[in-house]
Amino acid sequence: MTPVEYTPENKVLVDAFEALLPEQQLKDYWGHDDVEPVRAQIKDHYIAEQQYVCVYCNRQIVTANKALWDAEHIISRAKAARFMFTPENLAISCRDCNIAKGEQDVRTSQPQKFPDTSAHYRIAHPHFDKYADHIRWFGDICAPISEKGAQTLIVCNLTRFTAKLLGVEGKLVDPGFDKQVGELIKAKTKLEAKAALAAVTVYVEDIPQV
Ligand SMILES: [Zn+2]
Repeated sequence: MTPVEYTPENKVLVDAFEALLPEQQLKDYWGHDDVEPVRAQIKDHYIAEQQYVCVYCNRQIVTANKALWDAEHIISRAKAARFMFTPENLAISCRDCNIAKGEQDVRTSQPQKFPDTSAHYRIAHPHFDKYADHIRWFGDICAPISEKGAQTLIVCNLTRFTAKLLGVEGKLVDPGFDKQVGELIKAKTKLEAKAALAAVTVYVEDIPQV
């Protein structure tokens, strides 16, 4: 994914924020009226770049209503406001994923400098990871095929689609079903496939009917 490149006017605003002392870099700066052109450029850039596809749930929502998309800070503003305008910390996500992810910390460590490699993140990162290496979808079933995929599934509540499919009210606390489907995809032998399939079956049988 190509990171946003700020227009000269917007770069002035971004540089002004980044020149502040750390204690002056507040997360609410994002909502200031004078930052609106920067927010708009970020949203427009990533909507075009991602072709209306959410970086977490991979759903495409083609709409002229930009309010349906959220500018997403991969490291949340609450956790590190200083990365608020770092292009590689930005993307767009759907509302549901953004709300589910909230202010959870997705880093594996907290260096002062912007963490710019895949290993710095516990979830599949839109700029540093390839989505298909971590998550595959089968209709509404999200099958994680790596530890990062499994973490993304939990952080962004990607089991919400399965929950609906299985008729479970509210949040699926145990992501076991989707995880086992991931195991099934990764199975290299008939024995592994049978074990994963059995686990999926047990999981489905254990779901209380509503
Ligand atoms: Zn989403």
